[in-house]
Amino acid sequence: MRLPWHQRVWERLITMRERLPHGLLLTGQQGLGKLAFARRLSQALLCRQPGPDGDACDECDACQQYAAGAHPDYSEVRIPEDKTRILIEQVRDLIQRLMLTSGHGHRIAVIEPADAMTREAQNSLLKILEEPGADTLIILVTARPGFLAATVRSRCQRHDIVAPTPEQACQWLQAQGIDNPLPALAMARGAPLAALAFGDRDIAAWRQGLMDDFLALATGHSDPLTLAERWAGDDPDLAIDWLETVLMDMIRLRSGSNPPALANPDLCNDLKPLAKQLDLEELYRHLERIASARRLLQGTVANQTALEEVLIPWRNRRTKKA
Ligand SMILES: [Zn+2]
Repeated sequence: MRLPWHQRVWERLITMRERLPHGLLLTGQQGLGKLAFARRLSQALLCRQPGPDGDACDECDACQQYAAGAHPDYSEVRIPEDKTRILIEQVRDLIQRLMLTSGHGHRIAVIEPADAMTREAQNSLLKILEEPGADTLIILVTARPGFLAATVRSRCQRHDIVAPTPEQACQWLQAQGIDNPLPALAMARGAPLAALAFGDRDIAAWRQGLMDDFLALATGHSDPLTLAERWAGDDPDLAIDWLETVLMDMIRLRSGSNPPALANPDLCNDLKPLAKQLDLEELYRHLERIASARRLLQGTVANQTALEEVLIPWRNRRTKKA
C-alpha cells in the first residue's frame, strides 16, 4: 500500500531500483505505514513489468506469487506470536533462505520491527550485511533506529518516512470517513494511520477530558496524585504522548515562530496564556520528565508512579510562584 506521504521516499528509492544498497533502514514514527511501504516496494522490485511510476503491475506471475504469499525471493521476519523479540534462529533461517533462492532479480527480506532483534540476532544479521549476495536487499523497518546496534545501522542506507502536514493528514482522514479528524490526529501525534486506528473510540471527548485535567493541574486547581491515578487507569501511554504534544505546542508558542505549526491548534486559546507564564527552560524540563516517564512506563514501575513523576512538578511550580 502506498500512501500520499510515502511519495517522496518512494520516488527516491524506485529511481534507484537498479543500484539499491544491500541494506535499507526505513524509519519513521509509529502509524505512518512503514511496513506497508516496505511490502509494496518489495513487490514493485520483484514485479516483472512495473508501470511507468515503477509500481508493481499486480498482474504478472511475480505479483501473483507475491500476493499469494508464495514468492520464493521474498521473506519477512517478524516477532513470533508467543515471543517478544526477533530471535537469532529466525535470522539464521533467513540467511539460509537468501542463499538458497534462485533469484531472477532481487532477493528481498523485510525485518519488522527491526529493533526487536536480540543482540545475537543483530550480530548474525551483520554477517550477511557485510557479505551480501548479489541482488540481496534487506529492509529493516523501525520506529526506533536508536535501538539497533550501531554496526548494523552503519551498514544500511537510511530513509525516513515523514508524517504529512496536519492539513494533508486531515484531508486523507476525511477521505477515510472521519468527520472531525483533528482530535484523533493530535492524539496520534500526527500519524494518520494511528489516528485511524482509534476507530469508534470517542477520542475528541477523551482528549478534552485530558485537557480539562491538565488545565486544572497547571492552574493549581487539582491534585496531581488524583490525576495520576485517573490517567493510569485509562491509557497512560497515550495520555503521556498527548501531554508531550501540548508541551511542544507551548514551546512553539513561546518561541514565537509565526504562525506556529501546532499539533493542537484548536486548543491554542487555552494554551497560549499558560505558555506565557512559563519560561522555556521550565517547559523543556517538563518535556524531559515525559521522556523519563515513558521509560518508566515500559519498565516494571507502576503506571501511576510514572505519571506522578510528570504531574507532581506542576504542583511544585504553583507553590513556588505563590
Ligand atoms: Zn507485476
